[in-house]
Amino acid sequence: MPDCLFCGIAAGQIPATLVVDGKRAVAFRDLNPQAPTHVLVVPRDHFPNVAALAAAGDGLLDELVAVAREVADAEGIEATGYRIVFNTGQEAGQTVGHVHAHVLGGRPMTWPPG
Ligand code: 5GP
Ligand code: ZN
Repeated sequence: MPDCLFCGIAAGQIPATLVVDGKRAVAFRDLNPQAPTHVLVVPRDHFPNVAALAAAGDGLLDELVAVAREVADAEGIEATGYRIVFNTGQEAGQTVGHVHAHVLGGRPMTWPPG
């Protein structure tokens, strides 16, 4: 069992409901959905957060956004709109230390949440 939960899901060692199974990134449904569509997009390789991923600069961050769009298309929310969220660090509520984009949609979003 790998130390990192999302490395484990990306490697198929920990079960998840996959939405996109790509070469460098995968998308799967969040265990505790906050919206009708709540999907997480992660690179197969481990980066602790989006800033570290951006610093790597090999197009993987672009690919995560492209996969997020693919998810939105598949879920039928591309036209109505969706939110892409990268919680980064403790006070932002990041609880899993493997970069993940939340793709949220299917209901009107309000800010601040709650
Ligand atoms: P964060 O709070 O780090 O931005 O987001 C972590 C997300 O991962 C949360 O929305 C949480 O519900 C989800 N999550 C935590 N553990 C699991 C799991 O084992 N499987 C799946 N599919 N999602 C998980
Ligand atoms: Zn990882």
